[in-house]
Amino acid sequence: MLNAIRQNLTAKDINVGISACLLGDNVRYNGGHTQSKFCVDTLSKYFTFRRYCPEVESGFGIPRPTLRLEGDINNPRMAYTKQPGSDVSPQFYKTIEPFIKKQGDLSAYILMRKSPSCGMERIKVYQENGHSHVELQRGLFADALIKKYPNLPVEEDGRLNDKHLRENFILRVYAYYLFNKTVSVDEGMKSLVEFHSYYKYILMAHNQMAYKKLGQLVSGAKKIDFGELKEIYIGIFMQALKKPATRRNHTNVLQHIFGYIKTSLNSEAKRDIVNVIEKYRTSEVNLITPLTIIKHYLKLHGSSYINMQLYLDPYPSELGLQNGI
Ligand code: SF4
Repeated sequence: MLNAIRQNLTAKDINVGISACLLGDNVRYNGGHTQSKFCVDTLSKYFTFRRYCPEVESGFGIPRPTLRLEGDINNPRMAYTKQPGSDVSPQFYKTIEPFIKKQGDLSAYILMRKSPSCGMERIKVYQENGHSHVELQRGLFADALIKKYPNLPVEEDGRLNDKHLRENFILRVYAYYLFNKTVSVDEGMKSLVEFHSYYKYILMAHNQMAYKKLGQLVSGAKKIDFGELKEIYIGIFMQALKKPATRRNHTNVLQHIFGYIKTSLNSEAKRDIVNVIEKYRTSEVNLITPLTIIKHYLKLHGSSYINMQLYLDPYPSELGLQNGI
């Protein structure tokens, strides 16, 4: 089931929420935008974007006075920057809460950084004395979204310029989409076992502990109600994938995969693979190089089990993400 869904994927299938200003909509406080070239030129070919500007939708207008977060660091309110002590949070929440509730079909969200509404992190909260707290917060929209969908891959546009974070985000988007289209729909143990098998090496590359824990969960599953089990599973799974895999862990996984075909190869082919994995380990080449060679030999000598591993093709190769890590 998973493989069929994956092979027939089109851009229309994967819905991704996005701060409207990142798509070039003139919705910022000053009537401008902050268009993201990567989102507009590249990601729009793979995802269907659902644009939303929480401040405009809340009726603050374009242009509008700038807003900021004030008060309690753990429960800040939205205020006009030039009117300290004001509170427009009730108006804001009245609009965004019903919107967020309807976003259960999203596979990811891309947020604009530094915004008191959309910022995913590092947002200042001002105290009554005019100074900001030392601790930083999320924007109010970002916070409400993440609390409602804790497993949803969420990223800021600025962080997507980092090759490792970009690769990691796209990997998570596809994984989350596939989980929701298979395990969540099928509601059966078979689909969870299948999902776990497909993601075995991706999990190993990201978090060995989580891989073991999830394996135990899947094998001893009968004691837990399936609805509860799949929630626990996806929570641990998405958390494990959140941190980009290290070069060391990728090396380990490449060696494991090599182990599947080793005995079928002549000494020259073996030497080539060992050399290229070593070059990857020492950062002489990026992941695409050992993967291309290994995939070539896997097609000739690998079992269907190893060839189905999503580690080999976690997202469309045209995105070129493995060239950068
Ligand atoms: S950052 Fe968010 S609130 Fe600000 S303009 Fe962009 S979409 Fe609107």
